[in-house]
Amino acid sequence: MLQSNAAEHYRSHYADQSDPPDLYASLAEDQVPPPPEDMNPSDPELMPHEQDLRFDGDLYTPKWVRGHGNKREGWCGICKPGRWLVLKNSAFWYDKSFTHGISAATGQRFVEPKSVRRMEGNPDVWEGLCHSCSEWVALVSNKKKGTTWFRHAYKCHTHPKIKDAPKRRRESSQGKVAAAAAARARLDAAAVVDSQQQHPQLHHHHHY
Ligand SMILES: [Zn+2]
Ligand SMILES: [Zn+2]
Repeated sequence: MLQSNAAEHYRSHYADQSDPPDLYASLAEDQVPPPPEDMNPSDPELMPHEQDLRFDGDLYTPKWVRGHGNKREGWCGICKPGRWLVLKNSAFWYDKSFTHGISAATGQRFVEPKSVRRMEGNPDVWEGLCHSCSEWVALVSNKKKGTTWFRHAYKCHTHPKIKDAPKRRRESSQGKVAAAAAARARLDAAAVVDSQQQHPQLHHHHHY
């Protein structure tokens, strides 16, 4: 699976360059639709169905799905080439979250680092400053599958550990956090009309 290892891509791509990795490079390109042969499969069970997005600009919800039950798949047209990914076992969720940096909860990209810097003593590694916990986090990693920043954002931004944060910091970011929480609540409410199958992340928190 060539596309699944964003870290690999970034490392090879940026090892010799002085700029930090572009975490959202894949989102700058147009999404590709399923190929014609997939749209007219010999097996009628695999006929893709078009579905509504949760809102205009929802980057998470697959526009095209096919198959049933445990084999139901969603199309990712951000991958190049595009591909079908199983929804039930969270393959689809994993690709969107950690390869492309799209939050299932919001349908938008995870928040970018407030600023970036080279790691002290290890200038090949770029770190980003998290707006939520104010920690410096490596943007990409050689070891972990998926982009380190996205993994952090998933854990930190959607489940902020407010009780661990110093009081002063909490107050300064309170408005933003509240606004983000309200936005998420609205999206969650909107998402209820979707089938749970489309949101396998609800069942997979224990993986992270
Ligand atoms: Zn993808
Ligand atoms: Zn954080």
